[in-house]
Amino acid sequence: MAATVLVIGGGYGGVAVAKALDDVADVVLVEPRDAFVHNIAALRELVDPDWSGRLFFPYGRLLSRGRIVRDRAVRVDGSGVELASDERIVADYLVLATGSRYPFPAKPDLDDSTAARARFRAAHGALTRADGVLLLGAGPAGLELAGEIKAAWPGKRVTVVDPAEDILAGGFVDDFRAELRAQLAALDVELVLGTALREEPPSEPGETRTFTVTTRSGREITADLWFRCFGVVPVSDCLTGELAPARRRDGHVEVTGELRLPGQRNVFAVGDVTALPEAKLAKAAGEHAAVVAHNIGALIRGSGDLTTYTPAPPAISLPLGPHGGASYAPGRGVLGAEATSRLKGADLRVGSYTELFGLD
Ligand SMILES: Cc1cc2nc3c(=O)[nH]c(=O)nc-3n(C[C@H](O)[C@H](O)[C@H](O)COP(=O)(O)OP(=O)(O)OC[C@H]3O[C@@H](n4cnc5c(N)ncnc54)[C@H](O)[C@@H]3O)c2cc1C
Repeated sequence: MAATVLVIGGGYGGVAVAKALDDVADVVLVEPRDAFVHNIAALRELVDPDWSGRLFFPYGRLLSRGRIVRDRAVRVDGSGVELASDERIVADYLVLATGSRYPFPAKPDLDDSTAARARFRAAHGALTRADGVLLLGAGPAGLELAGEIKAAWPGKRVTVVDPAEDILAGGFVDDFRAELRAQLAALDVELVLGTALREEPPSEPGETRTFTVTTRSGREITADLWFRCFGVVPVSDCLTGELAPARRRDGHVEVTGELRLPGQRNVFAVGDVTALPEAKLAKAAGEHAAVVAHNIGALIRGSGDLTTYTPAPPAISLPLGPHGGASYAPGRGVLGAEATSRLKGADLRVGSYTELFGLD
């Protein structure tokens, strides 16, 4: 009998582990969504719901041997999982890949892809009606959204507010920030930095309703719609029993070099949920997945050394619309708009997922 590997969460990390082990184990992938969310493309979907790429990829053709259980893990312990439906699945190996939540539109907040698509279309309609847009947060999501809005509607006023003194707090070289600041200025995106709003806008995020807010520095901003572009929350509240101590107060989960939960032989974690000291990226989740698939394979065979993961230094590709943006990686330095469009901005890496999910 083959070993059972239970993967909890079908985001970037989870699907990569499940796919890699499909031939060597009985893989069970637990995921409440009906389709994989390629959320690198979420902000393009918002400004252009008819773009040529895809945000949702049905799971149906991902695995050839394994099975996908559309359900939510509510309690995960060292030997298995209890699902929202009350079913219990036991397994030889567990991989926690529950990722993170991010305020809409950066990550969809609905599990059903038809409903989620409708939510994107409704927000697109609201955005179409707004002349002025306020974005709270000058991190990657806020800046990318500013660029997408300006690329789709150059005439809209876009203001980005952040209490930090500069865009993209933490870890990036000044030349990279300078390149982005120059492109944002050319797009006429207004940056209001080093201050926060005295109070949140009176409307819901994504709702078209004109309002005026004041920053602590005394600046008045009038807009017709706003989005919250900060606040990533790791999803790990399902860990119980012997796994609970691995959960830090901020929700991230401690892992060893082999990406196992401390003190656990057969329980691993990948992706945004991990407490690894590195940027939370789909790319990193994929690299964690390769290490975990190798290690579970070695444990199943009972031969071969386990691999350890080394956290990656900061690297990022940040499009400002299909043709703008900047990228940075140590060793490669700063790349401008044209290279960023080629690397990512034009197709938002849809091609590799189209292949993974067996679609045309
Ligand atoms: C706007 C935006 C653009 C980005 N662009 C890039 C980029 O260009 N390159 C890059 O490398 N990274 C990018 N990222 C970061 C990237 O999206 C994340 O790092 C990535 O989503 C992490 O993958 P993951 O598999 O850990 O988690 P997720 O993608 O968050 O997937 C987690 C999955 O687990 C499921 N889940 C949650 N709870 C449970 C439960 N209790 N039971 C079962 N399943 C559960 C969820 O439904 C979800 O499908 C971007 C992020 C944003 C917001």
